[in-house]
Amino acid sequence: MHSSPGVKALVAILCGLMAALPESTPAGQGGEPAPAIVALAVGGAPSEPAPFRHQMVLTDRVKTGVFTGREVVNPVNREPIPVYVSDYVLMEYGTGALMAVPAHDDRDFEFAKKFSLPIRRVVEPVDEEVHEDQPFVGHAGNERVVNSGHFSGMSVAEATEAIIRWLEGEGKGRRAVSYRLRDWLVSRQRYWGAPIPMVYCDTDGLVPVPEDQLPVLLPDIADYAPKGSSPLAASEEFVNTTCPACGGAARRETDTMDTFVDSSWYFLRYCDPDNDDAPWSREVVDAWMPVDQYIGGVEHAILHLMYARFVTKALADMDLLGFQEPFANLFTQGMITHQGAKMSKSKGNVISPSTYVERYGADTARCNILFLGPPAQDADWSDSGVGGVHRFLSRVWRLAETARPPGGEPGSFDPSGLEGGALELVRKAHWAIDKVTGDIERFQFNTAIAALMELKTVWHPMGA
Ligand SMILES: [Zn+2]
Repeated sequence: MHSSPGVKALVAILCGLMAALPESTPAGQGGEPAPAIVALAVGGAPSEPAPFRHQMVLTDRVKTGVFTGREVVNPVNREPIPVYVSDYVLMEYGTGALMAVPAHDDRDFEFAKKFSLPIRRVVEPVDEEVHEDQPFVGHAGNERVVNSGHFSGMSVAEATEAIIRWLEGEGKGRRAVSYRLRDWLVSRQRYWGAPIPMVYCDTDGLVPVPEDQLPVLLPDIADYAPKGSSPLAASEEFVNTTCPACGGAARRETDTMDTFVDSSWYFLRYCDPDNDDAPWSREVVDAWMPVDQYIGGVEHAILHLMYARFVTKALADMDLLGFQEPFANLFTQGMITHQGAKMSKSKGNVISPSTYVERYGADTARCNILFLGPPAQDADWSDSGVGGVHRFLSRVWRLAETARPPGGEPGSFDPSGLEGGALELVRKAHWAIDKVTGDIERFQFNTAIAALMELKTVWHPMGA
């Protein structure tokens, strides 16, 4: 999809920028902040405005790099930082050098290991063990800053704000918003995609197709392989049309728009799918939107989500919508890897759910995936728990089949006379209802399932 990194990415990696100051630097005595946090807070190398790293590509390539023989001085703590040229960082957005963060980025970690560069941790989870031999990247929101002078001990949010203020106070940096919206090619020589509803007339120039002739539909063509010009250009029945202005001969636009055009507004149409007069009625869409919850992988956070928000804001500015933000809340789920690597057909490490669906059924397959770990984090596929999950679900099934129906109207059950195991079961059930309700609202499906397993252990001794 993007240019080869070897061509594009002549990028200086500034390594070894992890915190420089001893923990014992007294607070408020001129202790200086960890430079890694500077990278987080102001976006990277001190002399450059807004570099960013690309997060999703080239995770598997062998890292290569060359030391330039030069160092730059970190203006925050005066530590020298070696400058490397490498090909593993893409300049998809932003310009200038990048600060590497080897303790908290998989690829930077690998790079630093290969070139024996210092790896200094600056963020740690409060209540979890961290492994020295791997980067800590599993941010869960409860980290604190370490090895960072008098910013040590703060939460990441507090430290980010404090370091920006410190930099502004020293006149060494300033707060800025960096936009990551990438250029988006909306005109392509491809068959698939959305036709661009414009015609060319020798007399009238470029003329929009009138609304009553929309939508312009793609013709059925057999050969749609790219050939340098649009496959549509070869379709005479598609190309030749009449000019909406003068009625003379005219030619249709034969480029198509990227499919992102459709995914940037389809949710508006979903609110009003039977509308034959317009893409949507503002009244209907304003009543339903925004979407309460958006769930997607991290790639959505910088691609679809940004384009969809951009288009929504443009439509709102045109008074076609009564809101600026299409999605009220974002949940980014992690990826299921296998043996530590992204599943891909070329690597032959794809796990097909159908294997487990055939053997254990869809409920077990789903339950096992949800039970692998917190859905916000990446998880490595394991089937070691599948048998246990299957036995759990089977026992719940048998319990439900054999349990005595309580009788009476819903809500009429009176637990006041219960004692012993029955009382314990009712107590545990209420605990589980509370726990599962909260867990589901926080997308903590793994702990919700664990709570139900715990409930089952109390239920089991009562028969079944
Ligand atoms: Zn014309």
